[in-house]
Formats: sequence, C-alpha cells, structure tokens
Amino acid sequence: MKVLVINAGSSSLKYQLIDMDTKAVMAKGLCERIGIDGKLTHQGNKTEEKYKADIAMPTHSDAIKAVIDILLDKEWGVISDMSEIDAVGHRVVHGGEYFADSVIITDKVIKAIEACIPLAPLHNPPNLTGINACREVMGDVPMVAVFDTAFHQSMPQKSYMYAVPYEYYQKYKIRRYGFHGTSHKYVSQQAAEMLGRPIESLKLITCHLGNGSSIAAIDGGRSVDTSMGFTPIDGLPMGTRSGNIDPSIIEFLAEHENMSAAEVINILNKKSGMLGISGVSSDFRDLDVAINEGNNRAALAKDMFNTSVKKIIGSYIAEMGGVDAIIFTAGVGENDRSVRWDVCEHMEYLGIKIDPEKNKYRGRQMDISIDYARVRVLVIPTNEELVIAQDTERLVKEAQAK
Ligand code: ADP
Repeated sequence: MKVLVINAGSSSLKYQLIDMDTKAVMAKGLCERIGIDGKLTHQGNKTEEKYKADIAMPTHSDAIKAVIDILLDKEWGVISDMSEIDAVGHRVVHGGEYFADSVIITDKVIKAIEACIPLAPLHNPPNLTGINACREVMGDVPMVAVFDTAFHQSMPQKSYMYAVPYEYYQKYKIRRYGFHGTSHKYVSQQAAEMLGRPIESLKLITCHLGNGSSIAAIDGGRSVDTSMGFTPIDGLPMGTRSGNIDPSIIEFLAEHENMSAAEVINILNKKSGMLGISGVSSDFRDLDVAINEGNNRAALAKDMFNTSVKKIIGSYIAEMGGVDAIIFTAGVGENDRSVRWDVCEHMEYLGIKIDPEKNKYRGRQMDISIDYARVRVLVIPTNEELVIAQDTERLVKEAQAK
C-alpha cells in the first residue's frame, strides 16, 4: 500500500509518499507560500537532487495539484498514475476529547475537527483546508486523520485537570490535552523493541525536545501524563515559548506594558523561551556558538531548559513509581549531547548514568547509558510521518475487511 502523508499549515504543506510494504519514503517535499505566490521543493527516491520551482498556488487545492503533478512527472515523479496512491493520512493537531485514536475521515469527523477549532485556532483550520483540498483533487481515495492529541487521551483525570472551577471544564473543555502524541507513541514503541520487552511491562519517559518540546510519562504503553497542556505553550521553556509561568505575570505585564492579554500571550509564544532569555536565538545551535563566545545569557537559557527537563523527568519517575528507560528525540534530543548530559547528570541515585563516549553520537538510534545502569537512556530519531502512514494503512485495511 502507498500512503501519501500530508501536514498542512496555513501557508505551507509538507508531504511524503511512503511505500508501506518496504516502509521506504518514495518522495517527499514541501509547498510554501500558498495563497501568496507558491514554491515547490520536491525530492524523489530516484535521485539525490531536489526539484525546486515557482508554481502558482492561490489555494491549498492548487498545492495538492502541484504535488500530484510532480509525483506523476516523468523525470522527477515516482508513480505513473494517481490511482497508485491507495490512501492519504493527514496530520491534525487537535482532536479534543473526540478522538483517542486516528480515524477514517467522514463528514462527521470533519464536523468534530471543526468543533475543535476554538482549541487550536491556528492549526485546525489549515489542517481542514488540507483535507478538503485533497478531497477535491483526489476524489474518494480513503483518508485518515491522525491527531497530535489522541495518544494522550489515556491520561487519568487527575493528570489532565487544571485546578480551576470544574464548570470551566464542563463548559469549555479546559483541561490538559498534550501534543506531539504521534512522536511520543512512535519512540515509546521503538524503545520497547530496542529493549526487547513488551511495552505493557515498561515505564518510559519520552522527551521530545525540538523547537517545540514536550515530555510524556508512558506506563504500559499508555500516556499517563505530559508536559504540554491546554495549548502547546505549557510545560518546558522552548525555542520561543515560555513554558509554564505564574499566570499572574500575564495580568502584571498587561497592566505595566499596556498590552491586552492576547498581546502578552503572543510574547509568551513568540518572544520568550531560549530566544527571550538569551537575546540571541531560539536555535540551540546558535546558543552553543554564543556560549562558546562567553555569552552568559545563552548559557542561562540552556541551563534553564535542562533544569526544566530534569524536573519533569523527576516528577514522572515519582508519578509512575519508577522508570525503565528515558528516551531523547526530535531536533535537540537527537543531536544535542550537552542537553542529554546535563539533564541526566547527578541522577545516578535513580540508576541513570550516561556513557560520555556513546553520548558523542548524534541522530542515530542507540542506547547511550553505561553498561551497568539500571535505567536505559535511549536516543531514538522520531518519525511522525511513518506513524501517520502506519495508522492510515491499519484503518484503511480494517475498513476494507468489513
Ligand atoms: P520542530 O519540529 O519543533 O520545529 P525539530 O524537532 O526539527 O523542531 O528541532 C529543531 C531544533 O533542533 C532546532 O531549533 C535546533 O535548536 C535543534 N537542533 C537541530 N540540530 C541540532 C544540532 N546538531 N545540535 C543542537 N541542536 C540542534
């Protein structure tokens, strides 16, 4: 089965065509500046070379058409007929309390995704636009929605509630949802495979550390807690996001800087975190350069990040009553050895100790703990597209079998 994976943003659309028989990525690419002018970057598996072109993309439907055209292209394409695409898997950010798993897209599902727009006003509308564009261009090819929030729906109520009046949960569904679910799910399953143990017997802490970062406590294969909350601003300080702060700061800043609550939240989303503290950059590589040049605020930003990761790991060990493995993934987790080192330092008493030699590698799946450590520390590159394609294949095959 060949599955086209679509991740649609407001002016961009990422895609991958995956052959599920071999798990090989046949082609991948990116449409940018949709609704402005339009740019396509595409790479097929026949060549290392990338195809780049300016193609008019007034709407997302035009972007999907451009994707299909290039997939069918004689020189750059990888298929000879659109019918070779057996199914489409869409990334959808917010599934609210409606979806605890991926789902075949129907009109009813689209209505439920629409109902979640107030919870993710920046993400769900472009995700829906991507779905509708595919329906328009590709007709009745089966499509599946895979939600960032679904994996965390297994959290117990004591973990997902905020201690505000209960009526706000009832009225507005204000609660912790958590995000990066596809990534947490993927790396936890990979970890079980690496450890050669059934996931049902494992207590895992997965650290998805990238531009956006979140940590999940996964007990027996089920997410029981996670650091992102009602929105992706909660939890760790990130590239440009503050992470959790005392909520009174919002009112204080609004009053003293003469801003609306929305303007303060915008600062907490876009000008805070590593960028806000360092004044240098949101990118951890830039922070390292600045730290090497003696920039104390860049060093402070990273120290704050590492300490926050450590605190959450500690709290999840307490919450689950132990841990078998800690997993690092995403841009920072896979690549930044100093983050991994600092996070895991001084945790020997919990059975956690990294091997400095093994920790030197980056971007590859490996166990980086010292041989005798009780808790395994694993680096596992994430692959959200593969999870989306796998869920799509599973659901479409189940539906066809009915
Ligand atoms: P997202 O998907 O949230 O946009 P990624 O998971 O791609 O983010 O992570 C991007 C971040 O990973 C970059 O901002 C950068 O800080 C970090 N990163 C990538 N490569 C390296 C590296 N070699 N060393 C340190 N940090 C890196």
